[in-house]
Amino acid sequence: MIGRRQLITALVSAAVGSQFYPGLALAQGEAPKRRIPWRNWSGSQQCLPAARKAPGSLQELQELVASTAGTIRPVGSGHSFSPLVPTDGTLFSLSRLSGVMDHNPEQLQATLWGGSRLGDIGQPLEDVGQALVNMPDIDEQSLAGSLATATHGTGAGIGCLSDMVVGLQLMDSKGDLHDCDAATNADLFQAARVSLGALGFVTQVRMQNMAPYLLEKLTVWREFDEILALADELADTHRNFEFFYIPFSGMGWTDVHDLTDKPLGATEKFDFNDGAGDLKLVRDWLESFPKLRELILGTYMGTIEDEATIASSWKNYANERNVRFNEMEYHLPREHGLQALREVREALESQHQEVFFPIEVRFVKGDDIWLSPFYQRDTCSIAVHRYFEEDFQPYFRTIEPILRKYQGRPHWGKLNTLAREDFRKLYPRWDDFEEVRRAFDPEGRFLNTYLAGLFNASG
Ligand SMILES: Cc1cc2nc3c(=O)[nH]c(=O)nc-3n(C[C@H](O)[C@H](O)[C@H](O)COP(=O)(O)OP(=O)(O)OC[C@H]3O[C@@H](n4cnc5c(N)ncnc54)[C@H](O)[C@@H]3O)c2cc1C
Repeated sequence: MIGRRQLITALVSAAVGSQFYPGLALAQGEAPKRRIPWRNWSGSQQCLPAARKAPGSLQELQELVASTAGTIRPVGSGHSFSPLVPTDGTLFSLSRLSGVMDHNPEQLQATLWGGSRLGDIGQPLEDVGQALVNMPDIDEQSLAGSLATATHGTGAGIGCLSDMVVGLQLMDSKGDLHDCDAATNADLFQAARVSLGALGFVTQVRMQNMAPYLLEKLTVWREFDEILALADELADTHRNFEFFYIPFSGMGWTDVHDLTDKPLGATEKFDFNDGAGDLKLVRDWLESFPKLRELILGTYMGTIEDEATIASSWKNYANERNVRFNEMEYHLPREHGLQALREVREALESQHQEVFFPIEVRFVKGDDIWLSPFYQRDTCSIAVHRYFEEDFQPYFRTIEPILRKYQGRPHWGKLNTLAREDFRKLYPRWDDFEEVRRAFDPEGRFLNTYLAGLFNASG
């Protein structure tokens, strides 16, 4: 009779040799190699890399990279929605290369490991008398991963995170290191500040910071028309301003952050994650009754108190996002943002009763970085979301043409349907980036299928 051990061995061998795991088929006598699947935060991107590595030192990274054949992809915290990371080659995480390496108190600059999680660097920076100038609305991302996609916070007078970078160290596919800044390897620097992870590993980053500061955050619930009437003024008079609109409610909320020296404190917080659950519930029951839905949501929102929080800057930007979603965000020339938003609302509420996630609107200052969506333009960014278990495509397919009509450039880390020729039209320095990429990685070792398509190269 067949024993339990033999049975499990037979089943595993059959599975390994099967069509489901073609890459796992073993040669006779070869020891099985465990392949660990990878997926992003929302689950929309997945892959089965040949190997996953997380070196604990720069030297170990160099040795591993130099001895790796085939495609190499850096991964951060997996918070991108677009297919930047997936590979059947080798996935490298720099999460063990984390923290503040060095700092300059006169210039308020600090050198950080690229693998640092944003949420882990606030305290160490504060300990050396510095703070990031701005942060996104979560802090789970790695620093290098954030830079690769031009991750941003909000603030009409403040650039994206890559705009705060004053120097970088890059590692190529042979494990060799390259330092760059505005004066040394200037073209490499321009390309590497927003690189999509297509220029090798960003191992170290020198950031222009500021002295530690307190922020006062005020959240106010308002009607949609009032928000639109106030938006430009709020964007111009507050350090950070963003707003959210809740579909089928006629209501939303504005958030402003300003520097303060008032004492620390916080009023009771509305829980965004519970709120998303409530919006889903109302959608589930009232999807076919838009008027009733608006009445109930309006009444519900009328009960939510305004909020004020005063805290250290790095504790007062990020939120917890426990309810998962998929997202599309476009960065539009600022002057078109509010008109585009009106059209987005109209299309959403006339065609997509199934949607319940808020629309998020932010403001970002222009910069001079070749592949930054903020290149030479101040922007208004519009982001739409769909619950992670529901098909985002029909909704995003309706909204994307509106955002494209106004010359929007998509967030590199979020979903979009643009291809190489579309991007070339939107980015005046696209060809310059390609030239630097070809020179730095002529064999395309850092390209997965998506990036090879974007840069017209074989990966
Ligand atoms: C809940 C949620 C909230 C978000 N909020 C915001 C927001 O407020 N503002 C905003 O702009 N975006 C936001 N994003 C998007 C997110 O900031 C970006 O997609 C960011 O790039 C994710 O960083 P990551 O560390 O997870 O990188 P990953 O998604 O793992 O990788 C992104 C890119 O970085 C590259 N990369 C990673 N590490 C390195 C390295 N060491 N060297 C070179 N390249 C590297 C990868 O190859 C890939 O191309 C949000 C995403 C989620 C899921």
